[in-house]
Order: sequence, then structure tokens, then C-alpha cells
Amino acid sequence: MVFIHDTELSLRATAALVNTLPTVGVDDVDRLATQADADAFFTEYPYTGAFDRDDAELTALRAIRPRLRGLWGASRDEAVPLVNAMLRDGHALPQLVIHDGYGWHIHATESAAPLPTRMLVEAAMAFVDIIRSDQWDRVRVCDADDCDAVYIDFSKNGSKRYCDTGNCGNRMNVNAYRRRKAGETD
Ligand SMILES: [Zn+2]
Ligand SMILES: [Zn+2]
Repeated sequence: MVFIHDTELSLRATAALVNTLPTVGVDDVDRLATQADADAFFTEYPYTGAFDRDDAELTALRAIRPRLRGLWGASRDEAVPLVNAMLRDGHALPQLVIHDGYGWHIHATESAAPLPTRMLVEAAMAFVDIIRSDQWDRVRVCDADDCDAVYIDFSKNGSKRYCDTGNCGNRMNVNAYRRRKAGETD
């Protein structure tokens, strides 16, 4: 176990949220364009607390993505002020809570705070864990030459090279195979 369970869940959800951006992945489609997209996202990555499910909330959700994306590609020392700003802007106030069969964990926002604020603060709290456990090299962008999807490497030995979104590992292996084959026939 690299991180405690709720940190890992938060990081997976945060990476998935960033990966809805149209500038990542191989097809440039925005996967958080509609309320239906948002509903699908929260079915896969559930969050507790209040949901408005209106245009203002969707717009605000879309708007936190570039800010979160900025954490990937930042050095650890560059990320520190970004994370602190997220905690400050979200008026983070860490409290121990227990609900829904999860063990004791921290919520740093009220459940009535706006959903995008809760997500931003929860992501920031998870990145706090990465930074203070000295695991920043696990904050990665996909190695495939045609993909800039983000992920956190949760593998034991820290050897994960490709994102979870597409089929990047297989695609790169096939490409390398084809290049080798082409080299042989030349
Ligand atoms: Zn919770
Ligand atoms: Zn990829």
C-alpha cells in the first residue's frame, strides 16, 4: 500500500477528472461537456455531500480541471504553493469523520460547500499526502508519445509508465514491434 485508501481514491478521481479535459488523450474530446458526462463521472467516482446538478456547478467543475492539471508537470517544490492555495481558497478545515462504511478519515470542507470546492480541497489534501510521504515522482504523465493523460503510479515498485485511460502500453508495444519489423524488411 503506497497511500492510505481514501487518499488513493481521491487521487484516482482527481486524475480521472483531469483526463476529461479535451487536451489530453488521443482524441481531443471533452468528456465533461454535459450533465450526463458529470453523472457518469460521479457514478464511477462517487463523492458525498451536496450536488446541485445545474449549469453553474458543471461550469465550475470544468473550470477546476486546468488548475488540477497544473499539479502534473510541476516539480514538488512548485506544487507546494499550488496545493496550499487550493486549501486556502477552499477554506479547508480538516475534521475527522466516519460515514458509509469508510473508516475514520478527514474531510476538510463542509458537506454543504460547493461540489467543485469540495473536490479541489479533497484533491489538495491527497496531494499533501504525496508530498509529505516524499512520493512526488509518482505524479506522472503518460509516456506514450501521442498521449498526455495523467495518472498517479500506485505500483509497488513505481514502474508504471502509461495512463489507465486508453490502451497506451499496448499501442506503444505494437508501434515498437512494427518499427522493428519495418527495420528488418528494409
Ligand atoms: Zn468521506
Ligand atoms: Zn496514455
